[in-house]
Amino acid sequence: DAIRLLARRLMMGLNPLICAPRPVIFGAGTAWYKSPDDDGTTIHQPTVDAIKAAIDVGYRTLDGAQVYGTERELGIAMAESGIPRGSFRLSTKAKDTSNVEKALEESLVNLQTDFVDLYLIHSPFPASSDLELQEAWREMEHCKQRGLARDIGVSNFSIKDISTILEVATIKPAVNQIEMHPHLYQRELYGFLRREDIALQGYSSLAPLRAESGNETRVLATQLATKYQVDESAILMRWVVDQGAAVVTTSSKRERMATTFSQVPSFKLTEEEVAQLTATGKGRWFRGFFADEFKVA
Ligand code: NDP
Repeated sequence: DAIRLLARRLMMGLNPLICAPRPVIFGAGTAWYKSPDDDGTTIHQPTVDAIKAAIDVGYRTLDGAQVYGTERELGIAMAESGIPRGSFRLSTKAKDTSNVEKALEESLVNLQTDFVDLYLIHSPFPASSDLELQEAWREMEHCKQRGLARDIGVSNFSIKDISTILEVATIKPAVNQIEMHPHLYQRELYGFLRREDIALQGYSSLAPLRAESGNETRVLATQLATKYQVDESAILMRWVVDQGAAVVTTSSKRERMATTFSQVPSFKLTEEEVAQLTATGKGRWFRGFFADEFKVA
């Protein structure tokens, strides 16, 4: 089955290695947003140090984005780590749906590299029409054809958004990166992505830790953490991974980086436990990112 899947991905022009087990991705985003006063040229040393710590702990898949303002820091951290570029899987994201190719050229300068392993459209919301979204996808394909991006994909795309670009795509999106935790029920989207062979990356898996204390998800995560002798954060990340996705997470603390990196691949939740965690989120809907845009869409 694994060989057939690899062959199928090769035939579709997708990187066959993207579905290799790489469950934990270190995010150089959100928590690291630069101050709005930043002129874009200042280097934020704590961010460089944190990314270097993550690399030192073992992370090789790094997630950036134009909008985070941290591409320069990512570039410096990778260069100073002394680890060859080929050992990293580096992604970045286009902020807008117009000029995605030019945006990538700028990102590559900031990242000190000739290519990214994965280039994503950060969200569909800046596009004012389906035609604009389709045009953006054509440009994404051109980025891949030029070798600037090994794989191309999307983020925060709904079934409808993906269907819109599939109408014109000659290369399918390799990935959809979305918010993913039990308080956001998206079973239809997961099924659609699976059928279309589009890999899933889930961010904000720790949202339940930020919700009010005593919520059922946390109570169950704490119980499962005792059973598996891991942190409750690892349980929440495993809920993502055990549904076939890679988890994108971040921390400024080396100890947490190390715990996540070692614990998440070390165990597996049962199907029943995944379903139980999913059930705790029902009726407690929460979306931390793009909440307004999704309501309108
Ligand atoms: P998480 O849900 O993983 O939350 C990470 C935050 O939780 C960090 O700020 C960290 O703070 C804290 N944390 C980490 N480990 C623990 C722990 N063991 N216990 C308690 N708290 C912990 O993910 P985010 O929502 O922050 O996003 C992660 C990455 O996903 C981003 O950096 C970005 O790369 C990507 N992302 C993509 C988006 C998109 O639109 N495509 C949107 C949002 C995120 P501390 O530093 O104190 O450890």
